Amino acid sequence: MEREPKGSQERVTDPFRFPVQYMKTVGPRRAALLKKLGIETVGDLLYHFPRRYEDRRIFKRLADVTTGETLTLKVRVIGLEELNPRPRLTITKAKVTDGTAIAYAVWFNQPYVKKEITRGLPLLVNGKIERKFGVTEIMVYEYELLEGRDTLHTGRIVPVYPASEKITQRFLRNLMYQALKEWAGRLPELLPDSLIRKLNYPVLEKALWQMHFPEDLDQQQLARERIAFEELLMLQLGLVLRKRAKVNDKRGIRHISQKELIGPFVRTLPYELTGAQKRVIREVLRDMESPKPMSRLVQGDVGSGKTTVAAVALLKAVECGYQGTLMAPTEILAEQHFLNLRKLLAPMGIRVGLLTGKMSKKEKDALLEAIATGETQIVIGTHALIQEEVTFRALTVVVIDEQHRFGVRQRAALQQKGYNPDVLVMTATPIPRTLAMTLYGDLDTSVIDELPPGRKPVITRYVPEKKRPKVYQFIEKQIRQGRQAYVVCPLIEESEVIEGEAVEEMTGKLQQIFKHYRVGMLHGRLPTEERERVIEAFRQGDIQILVTTTVVEVGVDVPNASVMVIEGTERFGLAQLHQLRGRIGRGRHQSYCLLMGNPQTPEARARISIMIRSTDGFAIAEEDLKLRGPGEFFGTRQHGIPDFKAADLLRDASILVRAREEAELLLKSDPELSEPAWQPLYRAVISKFSDLKI
Ligand code: ADP
Ligand code: MG
Repeated sequence: MEREPKGSQERVTDPFRFPVQYMKTVGPRRAALLKKLGIETVGDLLYHFPRRYEDRRIFKRLADVTTGETLTLKVRVIGLEELNPRPRLTITKAKVTDGTAIAYAVWFNQPYVKKEITRGLPLLVNGKIERKFGVTEIMVYEYELLEGRDTLHTGRIVPVYPASEKITQRFLRNLMYQALKEWAGRLPELLPDSLIRKLNYPVLEKALWQMHFPEDLDQQQLARERIAFEELLMLQLGLVLRKRAKVNDKRGIRHISQKELIGPFVRTLPYELTGAQKRVIREVLRDMESPKPMSRLVQGDVGSGKTTVAAVALLKAVECGYQGTLMAPTEILAEQHFLNLRKLLAPMGIRVGLLTGKMSKKEKDALLEAIATGETQIVIGTHALIQEEVTFRALTVVVIDEQHRFGVRQRAALQQKGYNPDVLVMTATPIPRTLAMTLYGDLDTSVIDELPPGRKPVITRYVPEKKRPKVYQFIEKQIRQGRQAYVVCPLIEESEVIEGEAVEEMTGKLQQIFKHYRVGMLHGRLPTEERERVIEAFRQGDIQILVTTTVVEVGVDVPNASVMVIEGTERFGLAQLHQLRGRIGRGRHQSYCLLMGNPQTPEARARISIMIRSTDGFAIAEEDLKLRGPGEFFGTRQHGIPDFKAADLLRDASILVRAREEAELLLKSDPELSEPAWQPLYRAVISKFSDLKI
């Protein structure tokens, strides 16, 4: 029976509010240990699913066992002895039979066993068989008395949980059984009968039992699928509702041009737009001309030309007499966007401003004033843009570059600066389809799936340390042909200072080796003007070798650079390596990426071999997801990938698609969310997506 939490007046009916501490056999000490496993409430416990299962059903008779087998037997005890062959070694031996043969069950240093098992009792033993001189012994791993109740540890498919030294499997199984008996039937069923029948799923109560104590593995799988489906359905429903709330309830700006800027802009570009760019631009302009606020994600590999699409969106706002803003994740990138756009747009009489955290107060105040009056029409910046003091006169389009670098909240904060502005988010980190659906289910997506013509895939090689001189010869040769090189220093996440020092040291070393050339350096601790100068000098070709940290990772665009040496490759993640490599191969010259370092782990070696094999961002992202798992793919919390208990984005793509379909179907047939059978689910979704206003 359920017991009351101390001091509580009401009877607790929600297991997620009932502390596991108040269950029999738990108490404060064990509760603290369970908490380390992430279990604080009975609800947490019920959703603490097994890591794997062990099949301990009874398949054999004692007469048929062979030495070396690990199995479970049902026997009766016919004799019991305890031996002490030497100090600190106690052996308990039970003579047992199942009627087909006789064997000895053996326990080491578990003296309490003899108190539990007595002659004549039926017993299940799981262990390893050893036959010596015609005698069969069972080295017991786990045993259990048959007492007319369900067996939990033997004689069945047994759950193996994430556990700890002090919280044993045996304890967890017993506790889980108790929790299931007391609570499983009381959990609210969120899925309506009709859907459960349609999909042939077990009801929640049964699913939970089958997850923990499955009758067979098919049933367990179906149970897992059902629970995963429910998680994914809630997520998709939330996203679809959020999207609908955005589209229906909000009226945005209908962009109607008063002058023509986009055409002239496109004609001044030194290149033709690719087909993919044209298509995506059409999609963006269509969104902007409609009265519904745009929420569009533009995905495109590094170098696919997303900036041009962004520029067109910003120009559209200006054409209509409004303002646009673009937020980039780093100062360098913001500066570069600013310089590029200003170069193209200033001659057309458009005023572009740059807002970063490192400006002087005077500069900043002047710019803030110009933004507030509308004099500055396009504002490029870092997250400095979301500070409170920034107010726009009429912000109608918000572009977020490299959006995976920002949290959901930052994205929202920038949107707040306008009145339901059109939002365009851009990402160069290609997101695998399943993740995209999860993360951006509330966005429309456009994909730039074409690189500008004439790009040659970068050739990537791993170079062991002993061949370092060859690397320098190669750089020299490329420079003599007029090219330039990047040398990326190892990533030191903990300390920008040490990272900066490493860059300085490497720069000094290389300047010694390349006496006739200029070696420049770039890192996060240099003042902005200095960084700008260095990048500009590199762009102009005055610097031939640029030693840098990952500050060049995003955006830096110098098409003449054709070599990138990455030091300490093992310290970088795949997405990062792909981004870094994206700095070369941007012009018509064949480019080379040389990976150095000392990969010690299989995973580090796998990353290198993927980089060598593939230059396709999508393929690399899929591999990355496999190596790291979705949780770590972007860092769970920041990017809002929920913590699933059963669903697995890698394996469950098809369940995710089905959940999406069901969510859309449902909202089509019940747009008012009035269907009584669905109320529990709607309520759960709304409480989970607290920002949803329905
Ligand atoms: P990303 O998608 O990585 O942000 P960018 O917008 O920085 O890519 O573009 C990469 C490079 O390609 C830039 O030098 C840009 O000027 C150039 N570029 C963009 N579109 C085209 C095109 N259609 N043809 C040729 N070069 C292009
Ligand atoms: Mg870009």
